[in-house]
Amino acid sequence: MSNTVPKILIVGGGYAGFYTAWKLEKHLRKGEAEVTIVDPLPYMTYQPFLPEVAAGSIEARHSVVALRRHLKKTKIVAAKVTGIRHADKVATITPIAGDPYELEYDQIVVTAGAVSRTFPIPGIADNAIGLKTIEEAVAIRDRLMSNFDKASVLPPGPDRDRLLTVVVIGGGFAGIEVFAELRNFASALVGRYPEVTFDDTHFHLIEAMSRIMPEVSLKTSEWVLRDLAKRGASVHLDTQVTGAVDGNVELSTGEVIPSDLIIWTAGVMANPTVVRGGDLPVEERGRIRTRADLRVGTEEEFVEGAWAAGDVSAVPDLTGGGVGGYCVPNAQHAVRQAKLLAKNLVAVLRGELPHEYFHKNLGAVAGLGLYNGVFQSGKIALKGFVAWVAHRGYHGLAMPSWERKFRVVWGWWNNFWLGRDLVNLQAVQDPRYVFEEFAARPRPPQPAEAAAPAKAVAAPVEKVAATS
Ligand SMILES: Cc1cc2nc3c(=O)[nH]c(=O)nc-3n(C[C@H](O)[C@H](O)[C@H](O)COP(=O)(O)OP(=O)(O)OC[C@H]3O[C@@H](n4cnc5c(N)ncnc54)[C@H](O)[C@@H]3O)c2cc1C
Repeated sequence: MSNTVPKILIVGGGYAGFYTAWKLEKHLRKGEAEVTIVDPLPYMTYQPFLPEVAAGSIEARHSVVALRRHLKKTKIVAAKVTGIRHADKVATITPIAGDPYELEYDQIVVTAGAVSRTFPIPGIADNAIGLKTIEEAVAIRDRLMSNFDKASVLPPGPDRDRLLTVVVIGGGFAGIEVFAELRNFASALVGRYPEVTFDDTHFHLIEAMSRIMPEVSLKTSEWVLRDLAKRGASVHLDTQVTGAVDGNVELSTGEVIPSDLIIWTAGVMANPTVVRGGDLPVEERGRIRTRADLRVGTEEEFVEGAWAAGDVSAVPDLTGGGVGGYCVPNAQHAVRQAKLLAKNLVAVLRGELPHEYFHKNLGAVAGLGLYNGVFQSGKIALKGFVAWVAHRGYHGLAMPSWERKFRVVWGWWNNFWLGRDLVNLQAVQDPRYVFEEFAARPRPPQPAEAAAPAKAVAAPVEKVAATS
């Protein structure tokens, strides 16, 4: 008996994928379609919180949303989609355990997001870390704290300097946020380490362009530069990184900055595994060509049964405000596109017409460490404490689900009274170290024992008369 219920396959359970599934659960009638979401991770990550996680202001687990807790009617598969043959409506699923297999679908929603985009600069792939995942944010926090621990027991010198030097590459929103948050975090740590002074810590941000944060006005970005300078953080504009071998960050100016924490935030690119591993149309910048109604295809022609949203897609920005005519890759768009995509998909299943995506940019808000931030919407700019309140207010509300909002806001409330949690669990990377050190092991065979089993022979005992 053939199953006639349409099968919807969602590739990626991040912002756009999670919201699409969440809204499909709401809009679909019982038995109208089967929805499957495939993601190697069991959670969606609220990426705007990554800088605050790196700075210890938000508990890592609170800034992700467990798919199984919030998607009650969606089938969740812990796997990567490693191929899409849309001509046959088949996807290759590579599960986190077991063999790859093929899955048939009727409708595919591609929301596999973006990954850090790097250049072939010697040493970067081996020594830098990105900031796209919660694991990276946690590792950055733990590395900074461990480096303080190590520095506190080392004499002054190059090894200690390297440990206390942080380099961020890329002066976009994510780069500036993590740079400012870490500077603020390091200043807080200095108070807890009498062996380390503020002047021992060094913060460098490298930006190839002549300005930072293209999302805000030049005037606002200059305010951020002045603010960072006041906090002892150096921003190198018009400068490129030419090498990072052995953690020695070489700049186009000739300067070399040895660092034990190099963070790469200089751009993202649409998920190459999914884009290149499929037969859906791709535009010049490597994103899936998507129409304003979120179906894959061009204005003239759409690909039946294929949808895309978020960072992996090139969706026309009908407001005219987008870069090159397309929506910029951000959460603001990913969430709204996903909500419309779910509605449109249900409409198409019911033989109705889909609507076009239209969203005017609301502006940008960034946290720059505790009690400091920046906000820009059109010509309106807020700076300092008010902007920081706006940042927390906006993101506290934007976090999906009340359960998650509550955990994040409660954490902020606790930190306000108790201070940041300064526990460093880097040892979790090697959790068996104590057990292993003291674990009893079978005694290795001794050379004598390893030879032919000896018969018990009574050793000749010399009787010696005790003399006094
Ligand atoms: C540090 C930082 C700060 C940011 N701050 C802001 C901000 O303040 N405001 C804002 O609007 N935007 C912000 N953004 C951007 C925003 O987070 C992204 O635009 C948004 O996450 C895009 O959503 P997405 O669903 O397209 O991709 P993602 O949320 O990245 O989700 C992609 C999902 O696909 C999964 N996946 C990957 N490969 C496969 C595969 N082969 N098969 C199946 N699944 C796969 C991933 O595991 C992931 O769950 C920030 C980003 C960063 C990194």
